[in-house]
Amino acid sequence: AYEVLMVGGGPAGAAAAIYAARKGIRTGVATERFGGQVLDTMAIENFISVSETNGPKLAAALEEHVKQYEVDIMPLQRAVKLVPSTQPGGEHEVVFESGASLKSRSLILATGARWREMGVPGEEEYRNKGVAYCPHCDGPLFKGKRVAVIGGGNSGVEAAIDLAGLVEHVTLIEFMDELRADAVLQKKLASLPNVDVIKGARTTEVNGDGKRVNGLTYEDRSSGELRRLELEGIFVQIGLVPNTEWLTDSSIELSPRGEIVVDDHGMTSVPGIFAAGDVTTVPYKQIVIAMGEGSKAALGAFDYLIRL
Ligand code: FAD
Repeated sequence: AYEVLMVGGGPAGAAAAIYAARKGIRTGVATERFGGQVLDTMAIENFISVSETNGPKLAAALEEHVKQYEVDIMPLQRAVKLVPSTQPGGEHEVVFESGASLKSRSLILATGARWREMGVPGEEEYRNKGVAYCPHCDGPLFKGKRVAVIGGGNSGVEAAIDLAGLVEHVTLIEFMDELRADAVLQKKLASLPNVDVIKGARTTEVNGDGKRVNGLTYEDRSSGELRRLELEGIFVQIGLVPNTEWLTDSSIELSPRGEIVVDDHGMTSVPGIFAAGDVTTVPYKQIVIAMGEGSKAALGAFDYLIRL
C-alpha cells in the first residue's frame, strides 16, 4: 500500500509525485500513459523559463525528473473505480481495468481532460497543422493569418476576442441560431472590426493541401447549402471534457460540468483524496497551472498524512 498514490501521469500527476517523494513517503503513479496531453502537443512556448520546447521532449523530461526519486510508475493502468475508505484515516482503493487494485492512505486524482472534437473529415489529419484547441497555447502561431473559431459559448467567444488581437481575421462559427456566451462577451465581440460571426452553421469538413489547413467547409443549416471559407487556422472550442467518468459512482463531488471540486489545499469532498490539474474546477487549463496544482495537492496530502 502507498501513502500517496497519483492516478494520472500528466504534468499534474508528475509534479505531485516529485513533491510527495521529496517528503520521503511511499509514492506511486498509476496512469494510462505518462506525459498526458503534453504528448499530443507540438510547439510549447509558454512553459515559463523554457522559451521553446515540444510535447514529446517535455514529457520525456517529466519522466526523467520523476525517475530521480523513489516513485513506482505503473503505466498502462486505467482506473475504472474508486472505493473511498469507510473510516477516517483509512485506506482508499483504486480498481483498474486490468482487474488489479491499489490501496493508499491518500490519493491525488490527476486524470486530466480532453478537448471535445468536431468529428469531421480533416480534423484528425490536420491536428497541429492548422487545427488547434488552445488559443493561449497556439494563438501566436497564427499571427497575421485568417482563422475560424468553432463554438459560440463562453470559451469560443473568449477565444475569438483573444485571437482578434493576434491574427488578421477571425470567423466565429456557431451551430445554433444564437450565440450562448454571456452578453458582455457578445457585446465586446461585436465591437471588433476583424471578426465575423456566422450562426446556424454546421462545420462539415476541414480542408487542406495535404500539409496544412487551407479552408473550412460548412453547411448553412437554413438552406442546406455548403459554403467554404479560405483560412489557415481552426480553433475548436466546443468543450473540454474532464476524465471523471470513472468517478460518477463514487462519493467525490463533481461540478455540473463533471470537474472535481477541490478546496484551496487541493482536497476533494472526501478527506484524504486530493485532485489537481485539468480534471478539477480550477480554471485556465495549462501546463504550468497543472504542475502548480499538482505540487499543491501533494503538500496538502502530506499535511493530511502527518495529522493522522
Ligand atoms: P493530462 O495532461 O490530461 O494528463 C492526465 C493523465 O491521466 C494522462 O496521462 C491520461 O492518460 C491519464 N488518465 C486519464 N484517465 C485515466 C484513468 N481513468 N486512469 C488512469 N490514468 C488516466 N498547455 C500549455 O501550458 N501550453 C501549451 O502550449 C499547450 N498546448 C496544448 C496543445 C494541445 C494539442 C493540447 C491537447 C493541450 C495543450 N495544453 C497546453 C494544455 C496542457 O497539455 C494541459 O493543461 C495539461 O497537460 C494538463 O495536465 P494534467 O496533468 O492535469 O492532465
